[in-house]
Amino acid sequence: MWIASKNGFFSIVQHRDDPEQVLVRARVKKDLAEIFPEDRILHTPEGDYHWRVFASKKEMGEILLRQMAELDYPNFKSKIAKTPSQADKLDAYHHIWSIMHDYGLKKFDKKNVFQGCLMGGAIGDALGAPVEFLSLNQIQSKYGAKGINSYVEFGDGKGEFTDDTQMTLFTAEGLLRAWHRSMQRGIGGAEATIVHHSYLRWLHTQDFPMQGNPTQGVYDIEKGWLIKRKELYKRRAPGNTCLLSLASGKAGTIEEPINDSKGCGTVMRMAPVGLIYSDDMALAFDMGCKFSALTHGHPSGYLSGGFLAAVISGLCQQIPLGKSVFKAFELLFGRPGFEELDKKILAMLSLHEKLKGQDLLPEHLESLGGGWVAEEALAISLLCALHYTSDFKKGVLAAVNHSGDSDSTGSITGNILGLIHGLDGIPEEWKSNLKYSDIVLEMGDDLAIGVKGNTYEPDKEWVEKYPGY
Ligand SMILES: [Mg+2]
Repeated sequence: MWIASKNGFFSIVQHRDDPEQVLVRARVKKDLAEIFPEDRILHTPEGDYHWRVFASKKEMGEILLRQMAELDYPNFKSKIAKTPSQADKLDAYHHIWSIMHDYGLKKFDKKNVFQGCLMGGAIGDALGAPVEFLSLNQIQSKYGAKGINSYVEFGDGKGEFTDDTQMTLFTAEGLLRAWHRSMQRGIGGAEATIVHHSYLRWLHTQDFPMQGNPTQGVYDIEKGWLIKRKELYKRRAPGNTCLLSLASGKAGTIEEPINDSKGCGTVMRMAPVGLIYSDDMALAFDMGCKFSALTHGHPSGYLSGGFLAAVISGLCQQIPLGKSVFKAFELLFGRPGFEELDKKILAMLSLHEKLKGQDLLPEHLESLGGGWVAEEALAISLLCALHYTSDFKKGVLAAVNHSGDSDSTGSITGNILGLIHGLDGIPEEWKSNLKYSDIVLEMGDDLAIGVKGNTYEPDKEWVEKYPGY
């Protein structure tokens, strides 16, 4: 085994002839001198390691146990930097850290994680759907003091997602079509138009009449697989801003805002953007803003969409949630109109700090707002995910049991925690009782194949699923 500690770097192996003995080897003599008397250290320039000590397994075990009991630092590399006798190894440790980090990234199970992200969102959405418009008092008087803890909408134990997940799926479809186009032609740049057309296909499923100049909203409903799934042709309390913006046939941009709305319909559909741009948080932020601005013109609206996409991208790079949030916070700073979202994220972070070690209560979430607008929905969801990072169930239930927009906060929290825990880490009964989960899983799988940076040969089936326009 290799041991890296504040005393030094050691390679420990069993003695060739005596199974009770070990050889404790080091690159430099001073490391061995930290834990053994000088006269036991052998100089062996003929060996791989030039310095070694023979010890019994028992003796070495006691030394390691003592070191463990004396462990008094929260960060190994910082400790090394502050330890004069070891600080010259800092570069080497950074190197090892980075190689092992890359190794972890290569082993990252994209399919499980991407499916987890979409499935987690769909589950949070379905749990929150029946209580979206209920106050906390109403939720508690109907479902008990702790609120809901399972699918309660239909009385048969089944859950069904709403517009939040429908639009997330159409965001994913647009991104995969756009990526296919850039693979085919070697050019990007049409992403926002292609995603807009996907949203128009979603509008078609909502049986909502197009207004204004219909030629501006030319979109195709013959090709692609998602539009053919009749289970999606359902109105599940879709947001007015999304409907009206899309029905106008116009595509909003940051430069030419389509309206002054900052409804949470902008942020609740953005998770796939972070998955597709999973290698670049800054790009995910920019693209998230662009796709959000298609329907929502207020900076707090589209910046919240960009923020969530960046956090999701950071998590895909295995940057822990707290750090991903801080990095997204840095990416937000200074953008035109950033102040309102900035203030909300700061309020959320200080609440998170204050509540460490306590239960997260509905009134804590409600102090950040109701979640009907984007920056509130984002802040509430981030607080739930940060507070219960290691517990998918607790995080998602906290996100739906409050007076605000439960299905959207449930959906965003579910996206984040589903990504962190992967599909395997999501409770079985919630997965198996979710209606139309096959659509969600298929899209998660396809995103893992079509993610930016992946090279793949699109076969006939793929081309039919995601034509490049
Ligand atoms: Mg909804």
